[in-house]
Amino acid sequence: MSNELAGKVAIVTAAGQGIGRATAERFAQAGARVHALDINESTVTQVEGVKATVIDVTDNAAVRDFVDSLDSVDVLFNCAGFVHNGSILECDEAAWDFSFELNVKSMYRLTRLVLPLMTAQRRGSIINMASVASSVKGVPDRFVYGATKAAVIGMTKSIAADFVKDGVRCNAICPGTVHSPSLEDRLKATGDFEAAYKAFVARQPMGRIGEPDEIAKLALYLASDDSAFTTGQCHIIDGGWSV
Ligand code: NAD
Repeated sequence: MSNELAGKVAIVTAAGQGIGRATAERFAQAGARVHALDINESTVTQVEGVKATVIDVTDNAAVRDFVDSLDSVDVLFNCAGFVHNGSILECDEAAWDFSFELNVKSMYRLTRLVLPLMTAQRRGSIINMASVASSVKGVPDRFVYGATKAAVIGMTKSIAADFVKDGVRCNAICPGTVHSPSLEDRLKATGDFEAAYKAFVARQPMGRIGEPDEIAKLALYLASDDSAFTTGQCHIIDGGWSV
């Protein structure tokens, strides 16, 4: 148990599984009142120590109603995102639109609604989930995913620059490959789980895949006042992949 977020209110999206879930639970253990948001009722209602809300973060009206129900927010972790597999030639306009809607516009939407609460109290930490597959690194078969995550980094820096004088910080997390249910699905979808797993491990010089809780600990640092002097940065956590 720690108390870095005692008395704080936090929102975590994609909190039903993977990195979002690990972070929602860690924020709660650190004393925050956590609103855990996910589209999947069966998973988000199992998250421990949080108030679960079933919501599609691409649904403008639902997100607006949710934020309208809150009096204050200290921490916003925009974690929801989807990995499209393929080069530009495999990415049709529907795939492009879906990825940008979920990976970028949902963060824009929620941040735009939450920011006035943060500026009114002159404190807040926004954390946006990006990836090493972004402006950090070109990764094969991650065309639209990389484009969306580069947009997340640009959005993060812009928000940080605009609100640095209002006590609001905005940082991005750029993980390498991390164990999660959707990673398992992607590995299975290749048709050769073992070979695909080995290939993911091989590209990270530490010789392993990251754990969700390792990312959650970084998110906790960025959410708390321990990181009060950093804003607008990409915090890379990738087992040495981008070195
Ligand atoms: P995941 O992909 O296994 O789970 C994603 C969660 O998001 C699910 O619970 C799902 O129900 C929820 N979700 C999907 N669409 C939603 C919507 N419209 N509204 C609300 N919730 C929705 O989790 P993960 O792999 O930990 O990924 C989380 C984030 O981390 C993503 O943004 C991903 O791009 C990023 N990321 C993951 C890795 C990795 O290797 N796992 C690496 C870098 C970045």
